[in-house]
Amino acid sequence: MNIVIFGAPGSGKGTQSENLIKRYGLHHISTGELLREHIANKTHLGQVADSYISKGLLIPDEIMIDVLSDLFIQNPGTIEKGVIFDGFPRTVAQAEALSEMLKKYNTDINAVVGLEVEEDELIRRMLERGKDSGRSDDNLSTIKKRLSVYHKQTAPLREYYMNKGCYHAIDGNRNIENIARDIEASLDNI
Ligand code: ATP
Ligand code: MG
Repeated sequence: MNIVIFGAPGSGKGTQSENLIKRYGLHHISTGELLREHIANKTHLGQVADSYISKGLLIPDEIMIDVLSDLFIQNPGTIEKGVIFDGFPRTVAQAEALSEMLKKYNTDINAVVGLEVEEDELIRRMLERGKDSGRSDDNLSTIKKRLSVYHKQTAPLREYYMNKGCYHAIDGNRNIENIARDIEASLDNI
């Protein structure tokens, strides 16, 4: 089983991923965490990524797709176990590349969990997180940029996956436990 956890910045993708890892024993791939590790370790990719992230922009597709395909080549076992993709894909081009990559392992995305959260709540959560996350992008002006980038570049994926019939909308405005229960209810049937 491969799952994409999808939603705007601050929608709780990382938080809900943790629950899914425990419940289904999936391997977690978070591109945001991966890039932040590169930034902390001052790698070349980290330097490139930082220049986009701190401005609230997406890392260009060519770079992100390469990063993911390297990850697959280096850890072929992870795909067999089943993966929860958190923060990837973020564009239609990334979604198509992901599908192609998974095809090589005779698998595909089984479900997309869409965390749907009101804009005010997203901003509130990211500002709260910014108090101690140390993240260069959790401040009001960068948050606003990230949300506008989300609407332009990422939100079209909602319809893309709806048309494929695998999108599961989840009301992500409530508390962590209630959201987790809803996600489990919609995935347990798959
Ligand atoms: P959440 O709070 O729901 O976990 P988020 O948007 O705050 O989501 P991350 O997923 O950790 O946080 O991503 C942080 C930043 O890393 C993004 O704003 C973007 O600049 C970069 N990034 C992460 N994944 C991708 C990707 N697939 N394509 C391009 N840029 C990416
Ligand atoms: Mg995250």
